[in-house]
Amino acid sequence: MPRVYNFSAGPAILPEPVLAQAAADMMDYQGCGMSVMEMSHRSPAFQGIIDTAEADLRDLMGIPENYDVLFLQGGDSLQFAAVPMNLALAKHGVADYIVTGQWSKKAQQEAARFIDARIVATGAEDNFSHLPDCSDLPLSEDADYVYLCQNETVHGLRFAQLPDTKGKVLVSDQSSMFLSEPVDVSQFGLIHAGVQKNVGPAGVQIVIVRHDLVPEGDIDGVPVMMNYKTHVDKKSLYNTPPCWNIYMCGLVFKHLKELGGLEAVQKMNQEKAQLLYDAIDESALFKGVAAKEDRSMMNVCFVTGDADLDAKFAKEATAAGLTNLKGHRSVGGLRASIYNAMPRKGVEALIAFMKDFEVQNR
Ligand code: PMP
Repeated sequence: MPRVYNFSAGPAILPEPVLAQAAADMMDYQGCGMSVMEMSHRSPAFQGIIDTAEADLRDLMGIPENYDVLFLQGGDSLQFAAVPMNLALAKHGVADYIVTGQWSKKAQQEAARFIDARIVATGAEDNFSHLPDCSDLPLSEDADYVYLCQNETVHGLRFAQLPDTKGKVLVSDQSSMFLSEPVDVSQFGLIHAGVQKNVGPAGVQIVIVRHDLVPEGDIDGVPVMMNYKTHVDKKSLYNTPPCWNIYMCGLVFKHLKELGGLEAVQKMNQEKAQLLYDAIDESALFKGVAAKEDRSMMNVCFVTGDADLDAKFAKEATAAGLTNLKGHRSVGGLRASIYNAMPRKGVEALIAFMKDFEVQNR
């Protein structure tokens, strides 16, 4: 079976050179006589892997010295609890949430179990079809942070510009846009991202946190594994990390550097997204779901307006080697996730298929 164009929202397509490197390393990683999956996380070989991965990520993103980089486990959903526990529980116990779709909503709901998690803006009334006005947010005086999801994977919305948080610490879930474009890390108190979209196999979350926000010691009721200090002190090796997944992330970081870094990656992503959105806008059958000014560069959501026809499209596309185009189960419709590793040729193949489908189903 030839490789398909995989438009899954995550776990998602990975760069072929990275998969080939992983295959080449599988039986014998650099003369160790074993694969990375089999080696001790305390071995010099793995220490080299995690140190290099961190250094390459710092280089790619230009992460300032006063930020810690953590490779964690538990699913990115665990960060919905870890963020309020670490950044608010032992302070004012208050945070302001911008709710723009499924993921920021889940984050707010989880935070509300531990702190006073206030919603300061929401797009819920319009089914999260566009971002709410964030030009003058009614922020809480005592908010320990302001939270947003910079790219909503399910609703296909992206913050092209960050809201004015009036000097408050900004926390961003970058899961579905991580490393898709340059970001100025110094604008954030904390960035978290699950790697299973743009970076590697599911099982790692990357947390980039400004050092002064890391708790100084134990926090009442917070498990040791949930305290960022534990992982900062032990450089992500407090317990057994997902070694192979971190190694895979490291290969992707190297690959992105070889492509020319995040500016070059952003350019490719912009071109791919433009091609696909143009095709949608020119079509008489397909319609984009998100407001034009808030469109995601990674998750392109569209519909035909007829759920049966959407299903037919996804089914026939799969047969043509264009897989995972069904929208998230909570919203239906169609979604093409075009992460870094999706080649332009894949987007072109999708557009050609859409045009053909439109002719057949007019
Ligand atoms: N945040 C965003 C933006 C996501 O898209 C996802 C998963 N798709 C999550 C958080 C949750 O990640 P996980 O499944 O690793 O818990």
